Amino acid sequence: MRQRWTRGLRLGASLSVVVLAGTLGVVSGSDQDTPSPLKPVAPERVVTASVAEDVLQPTPLHLMPAAPQPPPSLGLPRSDKSLLQPWKRYAVPVALDPERPQIVIVLDDLGLNRSAARRAIALPGPLTLSFMTYAENLAPLASAARSAGHELLLHVPMEPSDSSVNPGPRALRRGQSAETLKSNLAWGLDRLQGFVGINNHMGSGFTTDEAGMRVVMAELRSKGLLFLDSRTAGSSQGMALAEELGVPAAARDIFLDHEVSRTFIRGQLDAAEELALSKGLAIAIGHPHSETLDLLEEWLPSLEKRGFQLIPISAAVPDAPGTSRRPVAAVGADPS
Ligand SMILES: [Zn+2]
Repeated sequence: MRQRWTRGLRLGASLSVVVLAGTLGVVSGSDQDTPSPLKPVAPERVVTASVAEDVLQPTPLHLMPAAPQPPPSLGLPRSDKSLLQPWKRYAVPVALDPERPQIVIVLDDLGLNRSAARRAIALPGPLTLSFMTYAENLAPLASAARSAGHELLLHVPMEPSDSSVNPGPRALRRGQSAETLKSNLAWGLDRLQGFVGINNHMGSGFTTDEAGMRVVMAELRSKGLLFLDSRTAGSSQGMALAEELGVPAAARDIFLDHEVSRTFIRGQLDAAEELALSKGLAIAIGHPHSETLDLLEEWLPSLEKRGFQLIPISAAVPDAPGTSRRPVAAVGADPS
C-alpha cells in the first residue's frame, strides 16, 4: 500500500528534495540521510572568498570553518522570526519529507495533572502539546515542552452539546455576546506564551454556532494564530469559517483514546498509520491517560524507522487559505 502511495510522489519528491536541500543546505541522498525533524535548519552559508584568492592567500581567520555549534534553543524564537505571525514564529522547524507519510500526534487536556504532563513532554517529538487555559502555573511546563522540541497549542474550553457537562471556567458558549467571547478568549490567550494556535476542549455545541465561531476565527486571524478543529461535532463550523476568514487551520482525523484501553489505543494508532499511508497525512489527538502515554512510549520510537515522519501541527497547515489539507476520514468520536 505504501509502495503505491510513494510511487506517485517519487518524481515530484525528487525535485522537491533537491530544492529543499538547496534551500536549507541539507545533504540528502536516501531515507537514512533525511534530516530528523528535530535537527535545526542549517544556517545560511557564509559567502567565502573566491577559489583564486584561496590559492594565493592563507584563509583569513574569520573565514575559517566555524567549530560545530550547539543547536539553537527551541525555547525562544530567533530574532529574525520576530516579525512573523505566532503560528509561524513559534512553529517547530521541520524539513518535510515528501516521500514519507506524515503523522501529527496532539496531546491535549495537559497541565492539570503535572506528572502526566511531564511524561508527555519526555516522549520523542516533535509532538503537539495542548495546555488547558485554566491550568495553573503553565510556564515551567510550556518551557520544558519547547526545550524538548515539542510545539504548543492552547486548549480552549468550549460549550458541549450536553449542557449538563461543564467544560471549565471562561468557556466559550453559544449565546454569549461578541464582547464576552472576545474577553473569554483573551483571558485564555494570556495564560500561556509561545503557542502556535488553539484547539477546542469539548465544544460539540459551540463549534456548531456560526456566529460565535465567526468571532473566534476573526480573533485568531487578527492575532496570527492557527486553529486545530478537534471535531467534537460533525457539523463544526471551524474549517469552513477558517477558510472563509483566512485562518490557518487543520482538523483532527482520529481520536486515540476515547475508549481508554491498551487494545483500543493500539488499534487507533494502527488506524493513524493506515490513514497516513493512504492519504499522506493523519492528525491524531490523544489525552494524558497513563494507557495512552504507555502506548506512545512504545509506538513513537520506531515510527521513523517504519517509514513515517512525525510532524508538528503547524507543518500540517498550509500557508494559503483555500489549500487546506482536508481530513478524509473520521475514526472514532469523542465528547471532549
Ligand atoms: Zn479537551
